Amino acid sequence: MLIDSHCHLDMDDYADDLDAVLARAKTAGVEKIITIGIDLASSRQALALARKYPMLKATVGIHPHDTSTASDTDWEGLLSLVADGGDAIVGWGEIGLDYAKNHSPQAIQRRQFAHQLELAARARLPVIIHDRDAHDDTLAILTASPARGHGGVLHCFSGDWSFAKKVLDLGLYISLSGVVTFKNAAALQEVAAKIPLDRLLLETDGPFLAPHPYRGKRNEPAWVVKTAEHIAQVRGIPVTELAAATRDNTSRLFSIQ
Ligand SMILES: [Zn+2]
Repeated sequence: MLIDSHCHLDMDDYADDLDAVLARAKTAGVEKIITIGIDLASSRQALALARKYPMLKATVGIHPHDTSTASDTDWEGLLSLVADGGDAIVGWGEIGLDYAKNHSPQAIQRRQFAHQLELAARARLPVIIHDRDAHDDTLAILTASPARGHGGVLHCFSGDWSFAKKVLDLGLYISLSGVVTFKNAAALQEVAAKIPLDRLLLETDGPFLAPHPYRGKRNEPAWVVKTAEHIAQVRGIPVTELAAATRDNTSRLFSIQ
């Protein structure tokens, strides 16, 4: 049994066949999927999906891409979703810094990242962190943050082992996506081999980043199995052991029953 700790099921990519996507996930052994908010509308939709499908949990947050247009209305809207959502909402994110695309100015991204860490702490939720080409600033803001009391995960981890150690030292979990299965992912495979088994999460980040051999296709939760198999092989352990450990870690971090 597996958990896909990060997927975007509210996106249009799944609009035509979500029931079939979830049925395939179940058949593949995926028992829970966390669908991630990227703005107010997406967070609202994630909660609606989690209310409709028992195998789903939701998160709320504003992605770094959209921080330049975020306003008080958005923050109030997200907090009221948390208040209404009960145990359907398990985390705050995805939030963080994206210096690869810079859709919002970096100074605004940093300010809104710190602000959302405070909101997450107020909501008593763990955080889901997005970091692209912004390792140093991500670490600096997290080090100064009050949100670490409720834990968090660096999702779709893209650094090397020395960065992974710093993230682990902050008490955070690390989530690996299908990128670890790509042929040119030697640094990530080193992380996959060395990370303590009680700190690792798995994700698809669907519809993006489909694992080998589906690279380039629309990703979906059933394919988290491919990532699990690959990491189990890298570590030389049975996939059932890796699945159980990552499921327990995800359940612990997000307080999922
Ligand atoms: Zn994502």
